[in-house]
Amino acid sequence: MSNSSILVVGGGFSGITAALEAAEVGHEVFIVEKTPFLGGRVAQLNKYFPKLCPPSCGLEIQFQRIKNNKNVKFFTQAEVGGIKGSKGDYEVTVKIKPRHVGPGSAQLTEVAEGLEKDVTNEFEFGLSKRKALHLDMPFAFPQRWVLDKDACTEADLKKLSELEVIDLEETEREVTLNVGSIVYATGWKPYDMTNLTNLGGGQIPNMISNMQMERLASGSGPTKGNIVRPSDGEKPMNVAFVQCAGSRDENHLGFCSYICCMASLKQAAYLREQHPDCRVSIFYIDLRTPGRYDNFKNKILDDPKIRAVKGKVADAQPAGDKVKLTVENAVTGIKGEETFDMVVLATGMQPSLAGQKLPAGLEVDEEGFIIGGEDKGIYAAGCAKLPLDVMKSAQSATGAALKAIQTVKGR
Ligand code: SF4
Repeated sequence: MSNSSILVVGGGFSGITAALEAAEVGHEVFIVEKTPFLGGRVAQLNKYFPKLCPPSCGLEIQFQRIKNNKNVKFFTQAEVGGIKGSKGDYEVTVKIKPRHVGPGSAQLTEVAEGLEKDVTNEFEFGLSKRKALHLDMPFAFPQRWVLDKDACTEADLKKLSELEVIDLEETEREVTLNVGSIVYATGWKPYDMTNLTNLGGGQIPNMISNMQMERLASGSGPTKGNIVRPSDGEKPMNVAFVQCAGSRDENHLGFCSYICCMASLKQAAYLREQHPDCRVSIFYIDLRTPGRYDNFKNKILDDPKIRAVKGKVADAQPAGDKVKLTVENAVTGIKGEETFDMVVLATGMQPSLAGQKLPAGLEVDEEGFIIGGEDKGIYAAGCAKLPLDVMKSAQSATGAALKAIQTVKGR
């Protein structure tokens, strides 16, 4: 370990990209990821642009590159505790939560299923329950289970204590890293639907977020890829998308989240492929499909069962097992009500660091995006810096890696 080493905070697509770019030209790189697995938001998608491939196709290649590169070391369930020093010479404290499951763990599916308690599955955005012992997705990396000890009953703990691979006594530990430069690739979180009180505040059963829709459509998701209503498992035959749900709104996120128009068009295609009689309505202020994505939009909107309505959704209410929307049509000026089997909110992306105080004097703007840092040899990448899609996040991460390499070069 020397000051030509680089720290990457965040193990999503941007963080992995930045780490590999630096490692593959010979730098020692440490990834610090706060969840139990690498892959970030991309791992939760059903398909992603530009090629609309499943996340496994891009991520598995990246995971393989990490496995094959001894320059990359990573810590999961880990967070930066503090950063001391200056550009070219940082000492970073990393706090690592206990995983309670050893490396090379055997197949633990049966053990997990035998546990008593079910808790909310945060990887599935609350659409399902999980056990305390979990492996969130089939291609999870590392392929090593994690035990949420607080979610165990006494009986669960007794059963688990008998397994050699489980260490219930493991405690939080701390490591110190010496690095010359830092890349912050801390990504984003979906804007919290409970803040959108005029759109049901997250309390309407068949109103879901766009990220929940990704999980419903995913073959490894809670419904094994069947897009059905959360309330009753029925196929929705009349679905609405509400654009800019929380974005471009001074009361919520004051910016365009960049990806959610494309996400809704993509998800309209999921629905139409899976339920050929399903009708889709997209309520939008603007449909933003930058660059070559215009062609994708035109193709989707050519479908006679997909309707795009320029208008603002002012209110949402439950209507039996359906959802009633009040829409102000921006073209006709008419305000009307329509009822749908299911509604998808195109919730925006909020930087993960929103509301947090960062070490090393690193600053965020009022929305939580990192500003500056270059003078300190600290570089923001991907959605830690601004809203971006996966492809542009990877480009941003490559740029940040290059700046980090230049900072530590020759040290
Ligand atoms: Fe609104 Fe579309 Fe921008 Fe998302 S990408 S904030 S839905 S205009």
